[in-house]
Amino acid sequence: MHRLETIRHEHGLRLTEHRRVMLDVLEASTDHPSVHEIHRRAARGHRFGLATVYRTLKTFVEAGAVARRDFGDGRARYESVRDQRHDHLVDIKSGAIVEFDEVALGFLVKAVAQRLGYRLVDYRLELFAERGSADS
Ligand SMILES: [Zn+2]
Repeated sequence: MHRLETIRHEHGLRLTEHRRVMLDVLEASTDHPSVHEIHRRAARGHRFGLATVYRTLKTFVEAGAVARRDFGDGRARYESVRDQRHDHLVDIKSGAIVEFDEVALGFLVKAVAQRLGYRLVDYRLELFAERGSADS
């Protein structure tokens, strides 16, 4: 099934032209763009108001098709939801966001939750780091 069809079926969203364009922008993005960046990209060749971008993102997030992220710089960032889970490392100097998936971490956080008397349902991890070796 085509990705957009999947979203329409699974999330029950009617795919207007605006939604199509925004989904394309989000799918093509690997840098977790802000609302303004999404607007800039979506507005290329399309009539697009910032209010529409805000409203559409809210709809996508509520439908579970898009995730809103906060990396501590005061700007909400967005990414399309994929099957593969991942965590983020934020380069505190450049602001770059690096995605990673470390299986061992999954076991570790599960064990931590268990030790505290909980069954882990989900987790999210954000590392804030600067380039260089651990010793420097
Ligand atoms: Zn990500």
